[in-house]
Amino acid sequence: MKTVLITGGAGFIGSHLCSFLLQKGFKIICMDNFITGSKQNIIHLASNKSLKLVEHDVSKHIAINDDIDYVLHFASPASPIDYQKIPIQTLKVGSLGTHNTLGLALAKKAKYMLASTSEVYGDPLVNPQPESYWGNVNPVGIRGCYDEAKRFAEALVMAYHRIHNVDVKIVRIFNTFGPKMRKDDGRAVPNFINQSLANKPITVYGDGKQTRSFCYVDDLIEGIYKLMMSDVNEPINLGNPEEHTILEFAGIIKSLAKSKSKIIFKELPLDDPHVRCPDISKAKKILGWEPKTSLERGLTETIGWFAKH
Ligand code: NAD
Ligand code: UDP
Repeated sequence: MKTVLITGGAGFIGSHLCSFLLQKGFKIICMDNFITGSKQNIIHLASNKSLKLVEHDVSKHIAINDDIDYVLHFASPASPIDYQKIPIQTLKVGSLGTHNTLGLALAKKAKYMLASTSEVYGDPLVNPQPESYWGNVNPVGIRGCYDEAKRFAEALVMAYHRIHNVDVKIVRIFNTFGPKMRKDDGRAVPNFINQSLANKPITVYGDGKQTRSFCYVDDLIEGIYKLMMSDVNEPINLGNPEEHTILEFAGIIKSLAKSKSKIIFKELPLDDPHVRCPDISKAKKILGWEPKTSLERGLTETIGWFAKH
């Protein structure tokens, strides 16, 4: 039985990863300090003897006696509202947290994966974004704490690969949605769904012409697993290349939720990327991966989940 350490395992994506890897027969050490995640996300796994929950801030030294085969570093605030509220913790988990988890992987001779992000491309001047694009990031802007932490993390991961020969993987995750997103994390999907379900105004920022491409979480998890099992050491984009304007997206959610909400416009936050869409040719070619869930099906599942919780 192989053991996987998942940092940020009580978060949105981390908790889905815990469930998926337990089903695949892995032993899981789920490490989290619950700064943006919650025990509630993994409560259904509490009785599973193959999962150990460790409350710890990974920006501090990590001591673990168990053998570890994989370190998956997913701890980091991810929603713009979260990381702008706690920018220093965000910079620390991307830098010190990445250093600590890489050191652990080296000591345990474990394979390593960094959860990176499409934000490394900043407000991109190339659309869709291939992995070869170096990005357009404002280092001192309000998103800089997240974008630069992840860019530093990627550089550190590659240094551990080149100098210490750690078998590393970097997944550049594009906007992902699904059950277990925090209701109040401020991202477009939970906001639009909760506003729609309550028949309250749907808040579109700016003119809503900025684009995003939303991937259903089950598809993302499949891609992460394929990357984890691969020999690839270079960054890989994972996301759904179906691109919509945010205004279109608000309309789709409103209609799927059969809502009477009005769509209203609010000020566009600073440095909000104008476009975002993954070029997933590499994931298709190297991993044989592409998303399978239609936007409609993924959103219907997610709306159902939010309605219940
Ligand atoms: P999330 O906020 O739901 O989960 C992050 C988890 O990390 C939380 O449980 C939080 O408590 C934990 N955490 C944060 N700092 C920590 C620390 N110092 N020590 C221990 N635990 C800590 O966010 P998410 O959406 O699940 O994102 C998970 C990862 O995926 C992040 O690294 C994020 O950057 C990346 N990502 C997510 C998306 C997305 O669309 N959700 C897109 C791109 C990248
Ligand atoms: N957005 C919006 N209304 C909201 C929340 C977000 O119009 O209530 C917009 C936001 O300005 C951005 C897009 O939706 O252009 C996606 O935002 P999100 O916070 O989900 O993630 P981002 O891709 O910006 O990290």
